[in-house]
Amino acid sequence: MSKSIEELKTLTTQIRRDILRMVHAVNSGHPGGSLGCTEFFTALYGKVMNYKLPFTMEGKNEDHFYLSNGHISPVFYSTLARFGFFPVEELSTFRKLDSRLQGHPTTHEGLPGIRIASGSLGQGLSVALGVAQGKKLDDDQSLVYSLHGDGELQEGQIWEALMYASAKKVDNIISTIDYNGRQIDGDTDDVLSLGNLHAKLEAFGWIVLEEKMVMILKL
Ligand SMILES: [Mg+2]
Repeated sequence: MSKSIEELKTLTTQIRRDILRMVHAVNSGHPGGSLGCTEFFTALYGKVMNYKLPFTMEGKNEDHFYLSNGHISPVFYSTLARFGFFPVEELSTFRKLDSRLQGHPTTHEGLPGIRIASGSLGQGLSVALGVAQGKKLDDDQSLVYSLHGDGELQEGQIWEALMYASAKKVDNIISTIDYNGRQIDGDTDDVLSLGNLHAKLEAFGWIVLEEKMVMILKL
């Protein structure tokens, strides 16, 4: 999948429109992180990742993406629909009874593009690492991507996973942190400060790139 910058800009605007419509229609959901991560999603699905449609759960020899901060499901669902994983019309069922588009992504509805349930924070990096190691065992050269909130980094499991990745040299994973300084209860600095996050991540053996308010980790 490789779209032009102009196509990506148009899609970004459309996805932002979808997010507002979806959340407003049911007066429920998380628009902030969704709107803040829209460019990340359009770039990931429109330029960066190699994947095939129709979607398969196994996705052998394809890049995988794991959303760890599952509450930003509006941007994930809209991106998947706009990139052809399922019909755009289904976005209007967001957070409604019997919908495949629940507030937090799950797998049992069989929505194409969703490989893990998320919403309970802190688990996505561990899952992504397991998949990355599985790809190595399968001699699959593709990459695994994950996205995390910065408030989510207060979960202990994240740090276990960060430590595990470098110790076991899981070098086929690229993780991104939406480093917006905010979480549901306020500023991350007030709730539980992350301190010098860049230095901490490097100390755990990751290569850290900072792009505006996004932090990208690569082993
Ligand atoms: Mg945040």
